[in-house]
Amino acid sequence: MPRYIQESDFIMVEEGYVARDLMEEIINGVSQTDDRDAFFVVDLGDIVRKHLRFLKALPRVKPFYAVKCNSSKGVVQILAELGAGFDCASKAEIELVQSIGVKPENIIYANPCKQISQIKYAAKNGVQMMTFDNEVELSKVSRNHPNAKMVLRIATDDSKSSARLSVKFGAPLKSCRHLLEMAKNLNVDVIGVSFHVGSGCGDPKAYAQSISDARLVFEMASEFGYKMWLLDIGGGFPGTEDSKIHFEEISAVINPALDLYFPEGSAVEIIAEPGRYYVASAFSLAVNIIAKKEVDLDGSGSDDEETCPNKNTMYYVNDSVYGSFNCILFDHAHPKLTLHKKPSPDQPLYNSSLWGQTCDGIDKIAEHLQLPELQVGDWLLFDNMGAYTVATSSTFNGFQQSCIYYAMPRAAWDMVQLLEKGIHPIEERENICAPMSCGWEISDSLCLTPAPTRII
Ligand SMILES: *Cc1c(COP(=O)(O)O)cnc(C)c1O
Repeated sequence: MPRYIQESDFIMVEEGYVARDLMEEIINGVSQTDDRDAFFVVDLGDIVRKHLRFLKALPRVKPFYAVKCNSSKGVVQILAELGAGFDCASKAEIELVQSIGVKPENIIYANPCKQISQIKYAAKNGVQMMTFDNEVELSKVSRNHPNAKMVLRIATDDSKSSARLSVKFGAPLKSCRHLLEMAKNLNVDVIGVSFHVGSGCGDPKAYAQSISDARLVFEMASEFGYKMWLLDIGGGFPGTEDSKIHFEEISAVINPALDLYFPEGSAVEIIAEPGRYYVASAFSLAVNIIAKKEVDLDGSGSDDEETCPNKNTMYYVNDSVYGSFNCILFDHAHPKLTLHKKPSPDQPLYNSSLWGQTCDGIDKIAEHLQLPELQVGDWLLFDNMGAYTVATSSTFNGFQQSCIYYAMPRAAWDMVQLLEKGIHPIEERENICAPMSCGWEISDSLCLTPAPTRII
């Protein structure tokens, strides 16, 4: 029996259909109305496939999903169901995963600099694993959470990552001995080492280097009588197929490094904190054109549309860089646009730009696009919108976050139940890891079961 997610939490998508078809269904459903709010469709099957792929590529590593990347309820529920642990960075994130029943052993409070009241909250709620990288944190923990099991976060070379983290967190190797000595004096338990190579890591060697650095810290710790047993290799794994590096290229570097520095039988548990990896490709966003303005860049006033190279059309859509598209500003993302209505090849294309719905001039989603003439009411679709999108969106100007529909392909749901029973049939895993049927062809009779639609 599933414990964390029920069939009523998502829309079951029967065989032959994909989450994209659900998106189509929703668009069709509102086609006769003006209610065309932007919305996400989440393919929970994609998250199931990512999990199986993780277990296959990194068989010695248990994933602790980084909640900050996307804390949508359905994401947290399906990952709990799959047996993942959670990396939480705040009281609210701990509350969220505990509210669906995640056990404290499956939570690491992986924020090296915590507010005292939140350390106390972790203590009260049984969350023991926490990270640190400085002396002051050790004194705070020794006073407020005497049973904590501390994990020393070390700095990494994150120069090849799209979002650097070691500028802010991580102890340099040369200060680790001192920190361990201080922990010993304060009677604080230190159980292991963690690192994060930076989000969107482009260089797998960064993992190997950090794993070898971690080994040095394990040796140092043993000088103080610590028997460390946890290595946390952090996040940074790519979440989409068009990333500069493939997940398997990274695992091919990590596995031999683990076998060299932390061989099997060395009684060290290995965990990771993937965020982007699990959610980036599962989310697709549909936005609607709410306004449109034509500007004539050269001021010639020519109204011969087809030959006027300086005509520029500004389209305004019902999401923004303060909402789901904040990834453009914060995560250096370049969301890829698909037109919902396929243009015919002979339609002329015009210089176009895409703007969000807020009143700020910074709210530009894309420019220099070559688009056919679009109308108010037309839909634009964006794939790979799961990482650092909903998690970081605001309600600036009174615009609410786009709603989320969860879709679960029947085959993926069956797989979840099999995993639950402890059955791991390799062939079935391979099957489900294969991409499912095409995304774009729409049939008249979509086999969506009439489960209630969960909107968050
Ligand atoms: C952000 C973060 C993660 C997740 O990083 P991704 O690059 O999204 O995998 C993991 N661990 C910590 C401590 C983080 O701050």
